[in-house]
Amino acid sequence: MPKAEETVLEIDLGALAHNYRFLRSKLDEDVKLLSVVKAHAYGSDSVAIAKKLEELGTDYFAVAYVEEGIRLRENGITKPVLVLHPQFTHFESIIEHCLEPNLYSERTLQTFIQTAEKLNLENYPVHIKLNTGLNRLGFDEPEISRISELITGTKRVKVASVFSHLAASEDWQEREFTVGQIDLFRKMSRQLIENLGYEPLLHICNTSGVINYPKAQFSMVRTGIGLYGYGNDKNIDPQLKPVGKLKTIISQIRKLDNGATVGYNRAFKVEKPTRIATLPVGHADGINRIYGREKAGVFINGKYAPIVGNVCMDIIMVNVTDIDCKEGDEVIVFGGPQHPVDFAEAGGTISYELITGIQRRVSRVIIPENKK
Ligand SMILES: *Cc1c(COP(=O)(O)O)cnc(C)c1O
Repeated sequence: MPKAEETVLEIDLGALAHNYRFLRSKLDEDVKLLSVVKAHAYGSDSVAIAKKLEELGTDYFAVAYVEEGIRLRENGITKPVLVLHPQFTHFESIIEHCLEPNLYSERTLQTFIQTAEKLNLENYPVHIKLNTGLNRLGFDEPEISRISELITGTKRVKVASVFSHLAASEDWQEREFTVGQIDLFRKMSRQLIENLGYEPLLHICNTSGVINYPKAQFSMVRTGIGLYGYGNDKNIDPQLKPVGKLKTIISQIRKLDNGATVGYNRAFKVEKPTRIATLPVGHADGINRIYGREKAGVFINGKYAPIVGNVCMDIIMVNVTDIDCKEGDEVIVFGGPQHPVDFAEAGGTISYELITGIQRRVSRVIIPENKK
């Protein structure tokens, strides 16, 4: 890889392939794998990622917004796409682009059926979300008979899958609660299937569900964060490879003496002769203020350089007093020598928030899988 000449997010499709195969290896034969590519594929590049996942053999995709699904279709993605959180105004464009809605309330179900009627469709694939304790989206247990009536009373839609979402699949302290969610899902989906007279796909596991609850795979799993290289678990993380690596360069280096201060609000005070490097990445790129004031740091020539003072909109300053480096040298913010989880934790957050927060103005550089 040529050295970065600006701030870039490298996206390693070889790492994606490795993670995909790792997750696949955890699944029983015949269990389908749905790849979650919402939020620009967790802050990377949804089209490049989805194309690679299609090549690797993913069975399904999921996005959050309809617009995200349309982008996949416009770029030639052909596998089914579940839209996790559609709004009414987009129901017609869902159909126009062969996307499949999650229907999670009587209001969404009825409106979607009406839309399908208006367009004279039959057996349009829809997904029914059951609430088993996350209390976010989904039908509650007492609603099963009512929705069964609505669905069996029309030929307009056909249930492609029934699913639910776990609240704490990564947390062993919550094991009992999670097992309760899985049991309730089994019970509710059975009731729904009996009423429908056919068996759609069933799925409840996200990445940590796949890892921690292997008996809850049902007929499909939905993996997001694991594909991007994170296992929500210190034992699993080393077996996965982070797909994203945020790189930048040193714009300027300056030497400062005692009494000088660095950056806005004079937040860093120099107490001994110090070398400071200025880097072209800031809170408008997703490196939030929380990482400043020496909470987190970057790597330069293999050495840790703490972020000093306040993070600016487009710039951070790092302390390179003890590092052999010069202007133009490459800097690794996360990925490579610094696991992104360690960077996220230094700022008191989680991998999901860090990687989805890298803004679109940072160029994405796709590194193809190295096929040996
Ligand atoms: C985002 C999301 C997922 C993916 O979860 P990971 O923890 O990233 O694997 C799965 N299901 C639903 C409903 C989601 O919103």
